[in-house]
Amino acid sequence: MHVLLVEDDESVAQSLRRGLRRYGFEVEWVSTGGAALAYEGPYAVVLLDLGLPDADGLDICKALRDRGDVPIIVISARSDEADRVVGLELGADDYVSKPFGLREVIARIRAVMRRTQPRTLGAAAAGPDRYGTSLTIDRRAARVRLDGAEVPLAPKEFSLLAFLAEDPGALMSREHIMEAVWDANWFGPTKTLDVHVAALRRKLAGAVTIEAVRGVGFRLVVDEGGNST
Ligand code: CA
Repeated sequence: MHVLLVEDDESVAQSLRRGLRRYGFEVEWVSTGGAALAYEGPYAVVLLDLGLPDADGLDICKALRDRGDVPIIVISARSDEADRVVGLELGADDYVSKPFGLREVIARIRAVMRRTQPRTLGAAAAGPDRYGTSLTIDRRAARVRLDGAEVPLAPKEFSLLAFLAEDPGALMSREHIMEAVWDANWFGPTKTLDVHVAALRRKLAGAVTIEAVRGVGFRLVVDEGGNST
């Protein structure tokens, strides 16, 4: 799925682009309103910073909306609530405020794509998330494939993988994982977590590495293996 990223702050744009790519999005980055309007696509969603050097982001939002139904998520550094309201009135589908985390942006993109699927057909948005060259996780269908072949996972194995893969490279504490995947505040030993991690390591060898950080938790690292997508 293609994302049009309109953002003049290079460091924000670079890290967002890197992060979105890890989740399998193709990112077209432009840094001015003029370039955003000149870009002909295709793209399935727009991430639009309101503070642009050459134009008011709100005007760009309106111009993009006048052209079609592609979902627009406004990125605002402005604390002013009025900008968000005006943005939504001008046709933006959602907004995130700076500073924001990658996960929040991904969640917003998925949410607007779900909401707008009837008008965008959503074929790409509904598809699986790709990690590296071989692994895909289809969160809607709860299916995991390696090189196209389905990997049978127990329900908790799937939930654990989906959770760790939300933010590859990030260190997740055992407590956080237990809370998110087992729905429990866990103060005792978390042996069941180690058992599930071991199963995932075995089943997904070569595609991802699940690193243990002693006394803290785990992080999932995507094994890129040659070409990345
Ligand atoms: Ca800006």
